[in-house]
Amino acid sequence: MKKAAVIGAGIGGLAIALRLKKQGFHVTVFEKNDYSGGKLHALELDGYRFDLGPSLFTLPHLVDELHQLFTETQIPFSHKKKKISFKYFWEDGTQFAASTDQNQFIEGASKTFLENPSTLKKYLNSSKLKYELTKGLFLEKSLHKISTYLSKDTVKALIQMPFLGINNTLNQENSVFSNPKLTQLFNRYATYNGSDPYATPGIMSMIPHLELGLGTYYPAGGMHNISQSLFKLAQEVGVEFRFRESVTKINHHKSKVTGVTTDQDTFDAEIVVSNMDIFPTYKKLLKDVPEPKKTLEQPRSSSALIFYWGVKKTFPELDLHNILFSENYPAEFEYIFDKRDLYEDPTVYINITSKETQSDAPQGCENWFVMINAPGNYGQDWDDLVTKSRNRILDKIKSCLNVDISDLIETEYVLTPPMIEANTSSYRGALYGAASNNKMAAFLRHPNFNKIKNLYHVGGSVHPGGGIPLCLLSAKITSDLIEKS
Ligand code: FAD
Repeated sequence: MKKAAVIGAGIGGLAIALRLKKQGFHVTVFEKNDYSGGKLHALELDGYRFDLGPSLFTLPHLVDELHQLFTETQIPFSHKKKKISFKYFWEDGTQFAASTDQNQFIEGASKTFLENPSTLKKYLNSSKLKYELTKGLFLEKSLHKISTYLSKDTVKALIQMPFLGINNTLNQENSVFSNPKLTQLFNRYATYNGSDPYATPGIMSMIPHLELGLGTYYPAGGMHNISQSLFKLAQEVGVEFRFRESVTKINHHKSKVTGVTTDQDTFDAEIVVSNMDIFPTYKKLLKDVPEPKKTLEQPRSSSALIFYWGVKKTFPELDLHNILFSENYPAEFEYIFDKRDLYEDPTVYINITSKETQSDAPQGCENWFVMINAPGNYGQDWDDLVTKSRNRILDKIKSCLNVDISDLIETEYVLTPPMIEANTSSYRGALYGAASNNKMAAFLRHPNFNKIKNLYHVGGSVHPGGGIPLCLLSAKITSDLIEKS
């Protein structure tokens, strides 16, 4: 049986391990940590359960598809569609619950923001069209293979270029709204791949369609169950896992991969797939290979500073996903991307899974995952930034929700960009690999294959990009490339 080695048990690594197993390979996954899931991890603290990383789940069929690869092995995994995607709050008392039903969204938004319903409808329809025209090109195939450029989807997408908004920024594209709060609401979607709405191309206005059109989901048992159900499935179908074993080198001979060296062993394999961030993959595992300089020099996506708070009260005005907006959104992004610092008035995201899974918090309490977007780790004084941000977040909550929660926090854990970097080897603690802050970013992401034959790459730092759905798509594209090779 042909052997495949996978470096890393993040969501990308788990997905490619399952797909290669299905193709008939003997698959061994090397993971430096003692757990699977990478960024999709969880924490239990004083009776509270927290998802540590991702909190928003879209395109669930991509996870279902992996479960369906092995019909003889059933691992429980289910999800439900949310009626409200996000609740938004501003300091002047404006509140908006975004419905995932398009008509209700338009009705609610036009009332709250005094916006013309036809402007909203046109925007959402255009978001859908952009998504449908480009998904075949940018998300579902290898951008770097000639055949992609010759496909019908490509030609169709290229013809529509001006409409796609590639030459605009997302903020310019979103300035069709008369109310700046709506522009801000739609600008926020740039953060779904860790980018800056004042720099990322207008084509990112397709992202709202993912959430508002195709739906926002909640997996039973929380986000951690996405990685854990796939891990269990992989174990059941015979994928071998070697935890606490770090790969230190990718071995190759005459431009063809031969296996990996770990901190404990040498392992021969016909196929190697790296789920490690592409930057350290070259810097640490492929030191003897010329680097793709332009790709590695791409600016990194934003990182995050997260407070996990056990809060001894319940808040009926909050939902699963809540956003408290900054009063100065451009300044917030200037701080993150240009000054590599944190702005004094941050946009605060509060995720509360106990709204969906009551047992995630003790009776009468809630598990708050409180996140602000942050610059990558460039050696800033993070202790100081954590202290400052904690106070700023508490102030923001007071201003938007009219409540002082400082005395209600009974337990706390903090995750910083350097910790994300150390836990997952993501260069600078970036959540999504490279940022998409220029129109060539998609083309400069590393392809899923390598010049070294039989070496492949999956995960959030390579094509098609970061976030759970795109990582799963990277595994699908890679699996197709391997099958056809
Ligand atoms: P990772 O999860 O980083 O996994 C890589 C794995 O490789 C790790 O387990 C690491 O230990 C292992 N590894 C690295 N080097 C080696 C080596 N040399 N040897 C052995 N093992 C190695 N996405 C969403 O879709 N929705 C969200 O709401 C969302 N929010 C996020 C919030 C936070 C705080 C974070 C951190 C991320 C968020 N993301 C979100 C992004 C999403 O988590 C990532 O895009 C995705 O999980 C990345 O998966 P991956 O497989 O590429 O890599």
